[in-house]
Amino acid sequence: MRTKLSIIIAVLFFLVVLGIFAVVRFDNLLASVHRQFVDPVIIVANNMAISYPPIFPQSPAKHDHQPGYLMEKPIPQPSGTIRIPVLIYHHVGPIPPGTPPDYYVTPGVFALQLKYLQDNNYQVITPQQFYDQIASGNNPTTKEVLLTFDDGYLDNYLYAYPLLKQYGYSGTFAIIVGKLTDTDHMTAKQLLDMSNNGMIISSHSITHPDLARISNAKLQEELGNSKMRLENITGKQVNVLIYPGCSYNGNVISVAQSIGYKMAFTCGSKIDNKLAWKYRFYRIHIYDRMDDFVNRLAGIDKYPY
Ligand SMILES: [Zn+2]
Repeated sequence: MRTKLSIIIAVLFFLVVLGIFAVVRFDNLLASVHRQFVDPVIIVANNMAISYPPIFPQSPAKHDHQPGYLMEKPIPQPSGTIRIPVLIYHHVGPIPPGTPPDYYVTPGVFALQLKYLQDNNYQVITPQQFYDQIASGNNPTTKEVLLTFDDGYLDNYLYAYPLLKQYGYSGTFAIIVGKLTDTDHMTAKQLLDMSNNGMIISSHSITHPDLARISNAKLQEELGNSKMRLENITGKQVNVLIYPGCSYNGNVISVAQSIGYKMAFTCGSKIDNKLAWKYRFYRIHIYDRMDDFVNRLAGIDKYPY
């Protein structure tokens, strides 16, 4: 009886080991198939090597990195508009486990997006260049794009900034002034470093309130003091306001204008803007995937798939 039990235990143990072995082999097989889709791109950001595609995609179901950059036909451009897509990023960095990925672009994909812009002859411009082109009333003769980064996260300094510098591109960073001392946000010193190296620092208020729902006194403080404090940090004029949560109304626009902002940005799905919208220029959200990036540059917004 005891011998019989020993044999059963031994057989069960053998089956478990065999099972683990099979699972590991299958995972490796899947990983190698995944890697074969795209040539891996190794980039270096913040002295860390990052490979694309990642060996362990963090959110494979909805956000699997798509290997094909199939570009659909760009949407027709409405008359009276100028075509310069303005892109919105938030976090640029590894996605912490358990975090919804929609506000993250991982460094490997971000590097591929910059490479795509370079390979496809896009000029990455500053808000002032954007404004001047819109004011000229003509489409740019070469493709142009404006890159904006909301909320001033520390990962912007660690990952986005080195890659932008590597490509010679300018980024426009929307800073929540009240968070400059938070550990997961950029510091005043880091903003100065970026400002001295071709990056544009813009206001995203002091406390990130819904600007359309606060008193005029508070509005003055949020828009006026943030502008002044960022100008003190960078030694440069801050002309750009990026609405927290993309929320604004006519009163917000009047106050922004009276304080001295030259332009302000909201969100939307348009890649075409006009001078009449200078206090509500449209920007489009960018996700951690290449096919969607390419389509969004063409004005096609069909996420989620
Ligand atoms: Zn924000």
